[in-house]
Amino acid sequence: MDIHEYQAKEVLSNFGVAVPQGALAYSPEQAAYRAREMGGDRWVVKAQVHAGGRGKAGGVKVCDSDAEIQAATEGMFGQKLVTHQTGPEGKGIYRVYVEAAVPIDREIYLGFVLDRTSQRVMIVASAEGGMEIEDISAERPDSIVRATVEPAVGLQEFQCREIAFDLGIEPGMVQQMVRTLQGCYRAFTELDATMVEINPLVITGDNRILALDAKMTFDDNALFRHPQISELRDKSQEDPRESRAADRGLSYVGLDGNIGCIVNGAGLAMATMDTIKLAGGEPANFLDIGGGATPERVAKAFRLVMSDKNVQAVLVNIFAGINRCDWVAEGVVQALREVQVDVPVIVRLAGTNVQEGQKILAQSGLPLIRATTLNEAAERAVAAWRSDVNQNPNLRAV
Ligand code: GDP
Ligand code: MN
Repeated sequence: MDIHEYQAKEVLSNFGVAVPQGALAYSPEQAAYRAREMGGDRWVVKAQVHAGGRGKAGGVKVCDSDAEIQAATEGMFGQKLVTHQTGPEGKGIYRVYVEAAVPIDREIYLGFVLDRTSQRVMIVASAEGGMEIEDISAERPDSIVRATVEPAVGLQEFQCREIAFDLGIEPGMVQQMVRTLQGCYRAFTELDATMVEINPLVITGDNRILALDAKMTFDDNALFRHPQISELRDKSQEDPRESRAADRGLSYVGLDGNIGCIVNGAGLAMATMDTIKLAGGEPANFLDIGGGATPERVAKAFRLVMSDKNVQAVLVNIFAGINRCDWVAEGVVQALREVQVDVPVIVRLAGTNVQEGQKILAQSGLPLIRATTLNEAAERAVAAWRSDVNQNPNLRAV
């Protein structure tokens, strides 16, 4: 799960990371009011969306008066901000953060990520802040400083000092850098984050080290341990299909094709998507109902897939181990009786209680297309989708 910049700043400042003074606003009037309340004569207003690259896309504006803030944010609220990270559809702006502008001397890149090769938290830093890390690693790879943290002993002060020296931080400010690094590391590990990125971390004209931007991503599977983080979720920033699924405890990834997939297990989902592509189709989603799915859960999955307007055929592919084919079949039948499904449905069942499952499908009297192997299922799904598209030219072809 991602959170907003202003939320990440609040989280990090609780761990000792210094951030500029700032306040959140939900309207242009409130943004102007927040600036007056804060005082000063220069502010930066920043669109709060779950994506980077806002500066270049017009989502970050420096303003010299509250009237300017009002005008700048009037052009932001309710708009979609399209950055190179959002995709062409962009992300809606419903909150802006108003910050006291700071005089910047230097911009540093600082990131904490999980390095799966070393199985450790890795710190990535560069004196070339402000640029995206992808650009830094392409243009100035030699400027990147890396350090991994031994989990049993945690981030050591000497490591922080080494990073600070490698970044050319002057001796009088090294202690501030150590505090920033330690704060990020503690926030990362104590809150089960998978990413902390401060870009830029700035050195101000008056010798302070401040996080001018902040991004944090958390491990979804650990959110139950952190209710205060979990409540920071902002559904307006998520793919609505994916948040509906998360609310129902289903694992769903929306894709661009037309064939909806209801599958159990991530591996089988991958194989199903590959096979659909091999047969000439494009998957519309990746929906994993998981193990031990009850008929109700299968029915929920069906409703979810059908709520995507791009779905023009549904392939149910279940290899039941912990699952039971009869339950899955009942779920499919239940869903098809409740939800109006006017697209072809292809069902392939294998494994536990497969005969019972087939019987339920056969006796339902529903116009289901059945298949025994995965290949056959994918081919029938693509063929059924094609013939539907041919009969009804209003359906969008990929
Ligand atoms: P991003 O583009 O989404 O990564 O948004 P950032 O928060 O990183 O802002 C983009 C750029 O705006 C930063 O790299 C800074 O150069 C600039 N910026 C942000 N806040 C301030 C500020 O308080 N003062 C000044 N002078 N520039 C700022
Ligand atoms: Mn940034």
